[in-house]
Amino acid sequence: MATRINGAAFAADLRQRIGKSVTTLIDHYDLKPGLAVVLVGEDPASQVYVRNKGKQTVAAGMHSIEYTLSADTSQTELLTLIDKLNNDPAINGILVQLPLPSQIEESRVINAISVEKDVDGFHIENVGKLFIGEDSMVPCTPAGCVMLLKEQMGNLSGKNAVIVGRSNIVGKPVAMLLLKEHCTVTLAHSRTQHLDAVCREADILIAAVGVPRLIKGDWIKPGAVVIDVGINRIVAEDGQAQLVGDVDYAAAQSVAEAITPVPGGVGPMTIACLLRNTVIAACRQNNVAIPDEILG
Ligand code: NAD
Repeated sequence: MATRINGAAFAADLRQRIGKSVTTLIDHYDLKPGLAVVLVGEDPASQVYVRNKGKQTVAAGMHSIEYTLSADTSQTELLTLIDKLNNDPAINGILVQLPLPSQIEESRVINAISVEKDVDGFHIENVGKLFIGEDSMVPCTPAGCVMLLKEQMGNLSGKNAVIVGRSNIVGKPVAMLLLKEHCTVTLAHSRTQHLDAVCREADILIAAVGVPRLIKGDWIKPGAVVIDVGINRIVAEDGQAQLVGDVDYAAAQSVAEAITPVPGGVGPMTIACLLRNTVIAACRQNNVAIPDEILG
């Protein structure tokens, strides 16, 4: 039976270490990291995410500010707010919750955030740095996936990693991170032929697709480590709403060496990595060494 990779517990430990590092920054440098989260519109799922981000930021001892703008906010109004936050020394990280309403061009907004405050790691300059292997602000979900893999497997060098999904927020950045760890990386997607056979080659299999239980048990190489990024809401046979991943967890459990559950796997790591990025951003902006607790 596969080991259940407990992302929730790992994230709780990481948040505790972040909290300690914040105490150090406040005590030694009078530096309280601050995160601003901007939500445009009333999407209920996004409202829950934003509220959670705010709560966990405060729980880690940091300054949190949330802006909720109406769905008909113009691009100019949003850019004006971002400009204000870029120039606010109490704010070290800025996150604009995606997706944005159709009247706003996402890339225009993301690239208006100062590179140093781009804690989501989506600014074109941070994307470019990640691509060429330079230090950058690393996107949160991919960073969380790699942390869980290292915790489970130690050294990833030479492993065959297959990533299913090539989005800019998960698939592509996680591929870059795994290349940096010296994996041999395959990036599969909706046009990949013989996806089952491609997956069977993987020592590390990452699913970031958004299709409930796409990856079957017999697509998994015995002994592989599986990271399921997918979050899909389905209606179960008993009529109840249920969250499931992109991997058929029950079937995968008897083949894989280890697997992340949904929920309780990658999800909690995403917010923890956002808090970590905010601390890193605050340190870089103030020329302060990043506390040991959150390095590595
Ligand atoms: P996306 O829709 O931007 O990209 C999906 C990718 O999957 C595309 O590259 C597409 O080519 C590929 N794909 C689609 N159907 C396929 C198929 N049948 N076979 C192979 N590949 C296929 O999605 P995303 O934003 O990367 O998110 C993917 C999933 O991860 C979603 O369920 C999302 O909710 C979840 N997610 C979770 C977190 C987290 O914190 N845990 C964060 C981000 C996304």
